[in-house]
Amino acid sequence: TAQNGPVEGTASVPQPLKVQDIRHTKIFINNEWHTSSTGRTFPTFNPATGVKLCDVEEGDKVRQTGLFMTLSAKAAQQRGSAWRRMDASSRGRLLHRLADLMERDRLLLAVDPGLREPFLQSFYVDLDGSIKTLRYYAGWSDKVHGKSLPIDESFMCLTKHEPVGVCGAIIPWNFPLLMFSWKIGPALSCGNTVVVKPAEETPLTALHMGSLIAEAGFPPGVVNIIPGFGPTAGAAIANHMDIDKVTFTGSTQVGQLIKEAAAKSNLKRVTLELGGKNPCIVFSDCDLQLAVEETHKGAFYNQGQCCTAASRVFVEESIYEEFVLRSVERAKKVVIGDPLDPLTSHGPQISRRQFLKIMDLIDSGKEEGARLEYGGVAVGGAESLFIQPTIFSNLRDHMRIAKEEIFGPVQCIFSFKSQQEVVERANRSPFGLVSAVFTGSVDRALSMSAALDTGTVWVNCYNALHAQTPFGGFKMSGHGRELGEYALAEYSEVKAVTIKLRETL
Ligand code: NAD
Repeated sequence: TAQNGPVEGTASVPQPLKVQDIRHTKIFINNEWHTSSTGRTFPTFNPATGVKLCDVEEGDKVRQTGLFMTLSAKAAQQRGSAWRRMDASSRGRLLHRLADLMERDRLLLAVDPGLREPFLQSFYVDLDGSIKTLRYYAGWSDKVHGKSLPIDESFMCLTKHEPVGVCGAIIPWNFPLLMFSWKIGPALSCGNTVVVKPAEETPLTALHMGSLIAEAGFPPGVVNIIPGFGPTAGAAIANHMDIDKVTFTGSTQVGQLIKEAAAKSNLKRVTLELGGKNPCIVFSDCDLQLAVEETHKGAFYNQGQCCTAASRVFVEESIYEEFVLRSVERAKKVVIGDPLDPLTSHGPQISRRQFLKIMDLIDSGKEEGARLEYGGVAVGGAESLFIQPTIFSNLRDHMRIAKEEIFGPVQCIFSFKSQQEVVERANRSPFGLVSAVFTGSVDRALSMSAALDTGTVWVNCYNALHAQTPFGGFKMSGHGRELGEYALAEYSEVKAVTIKLRETL
């Protein structure tokens, strides 16, 4: 399939749609649109302006999530169904077709996340990353297979890889399209059916994807999308006896609830991608300007609303002052504004709740004696959700901002003296999602990547995420892996078939 969309750096700067084009606000089950069985809807807002965009049908616990939706996904998954009988390569073709339709609808799909993250970021990162993910898993569809195993000659033993079944996917608001694609890509590639619950803050992108899934020709019930709230629609997925696996991205607290619900219901398989307090370690032998730029992007990308946010930057003592100075200069260049303006690099936080949580942590940093180097204030008036990029220096490891996930535009810069000391401090966290090392020494890069307890270590780069590369956390950052070949194992059951031969020659 042709990669027919514009490629970054080769096309003229794309422009967002002038008028918001919202086409789907209902619940997507069996390739059809349904109203809520309770008649309830919930509003969705543009966080940059506070203006309500539309009302969305609320998926209700009992009917849509609990029964009807799951039965659709279950029926689509039954042996003998069109989806189960399909040649594996045809699943790949459908995923490619879906990616083609996403290329066609780039602007429609970029507008919704574009209201939250700056338009060009969503256009190139959320969207490109999503399309690449689906194409990557399209290629795997007919390459996931078992083996024949060498036992003694009186047996023949083979393994088969089968789908897990109905997979529930509960996703967050920070990358509404990317998270959707990270879940459905490997799930569909392996032949599962899916029930997706998008975050209540960002239901629109997922619903537009529903229309593309039907248009691409996926059989009814293969993907179902239920907009709704966590404690009702989300919890119904985690507790449901007919859902075989749940994959979740979001907060550690909710991850714990989901694992508990999964254990107490039917021991469904669980994949969790949770929070982080990610250390970046900058050695004095590094390319300083590169380290400043990459850690800046790491801290402030999507207004810090990333599980990978570079929130603890440890800088070697001899270059500490210079690093802080240059980081402040870099932060001053950020363009705060309407996310739909292609020149904007820094938009609003997602909600009042997140805004207040971040401002509270910024206040705690000031009160606990960290030095505020830049920012630390809200901009744009009392109702606004914009927070200036904020940099703290002279921190102590016990401070709240040094320990808690902030999920906002706050960069904390610590100083360190020795490699041993910094490894110990970097690893002293309940989280273990990602880390980064900036150094000119190959030996140091290798010894540091062995020593850091995180699922990803980036060397001289940051947020370098690729469909081919596994992603996931150590410790309380979650378990299981998304992306790459590794994610396929999360969506397959392995069956061993052992045949006793009646005759051997
Ligand atoms: P959250 O964990 O509450 O929400 C994420 C998803 O889980 C949403 O779809 C939500 O509806 C659902 N959910 C909530 N409660 C649920 C429940 N009881 N059962 C099943 N599903 C449920 O996250 P949030 O409230 O949007 O943000 C709070 C904090 O979580 C943030 O400040 C940040 O620290 C973290 N977070 C992390 C990520 C990430 O990418 N790892 C993404 C979003 C938020």
